Amino acid sequence: MSEDCLFCRIVSGALPTDLLAESERSIAFRDISPQAPVHVLVVPRRHEPNIGALAAASSDDLADLFAMVSQVAQAQGVAQNHRLVFNTGAGAGQTIFHAHAHVLGGVDFSDHGLGL
Ligand code: 5GP
Ligand code: ZN
Repeated sequence: MSEDCLFCRIVSGALPTDLLAESERSIAFRDISPQAPVHVLVVPRRHEPNIGALAAASSDDLADLFAMVSQVAQAQGVAQNHRLVFNTGAGAGQTIFHAHAHVLGGVDFSDHGLGL
């Protein structure tokens, strides 16, 4: 837990948010500034600065996060078509340095983006 981390404050309940899913290790809630019709953040309860650090710290937390990504994609109706984004570093667009997955869906990504 990091006092000045926004996602730690959401995890602890200090900042209220509408949870879409929760487990012992992860939570999911909607992005405040959605970039697609479905834009959900899946966040480990453990504070690690990025997904690589989470992977190094706990394979159980990493596995739980991916299981929740699938659960959320299913519940949001985008299981067959969604994009999963992890930003690492300010240069890649990361603004909150607590690991999180962006689950994006509800739009056709096949014709825009970086050709990815
Ligand atoms: P990053 O840029 O670090 O990969 O993603 C951080 C995301 O958190 C951004 O998409 C931003 O819109 C979202 N965000 C920032 N503050 C809040 C907040 O207070 N509540 C929610 N639900 N999302 C937030
Ligand atoms: Zn944190």
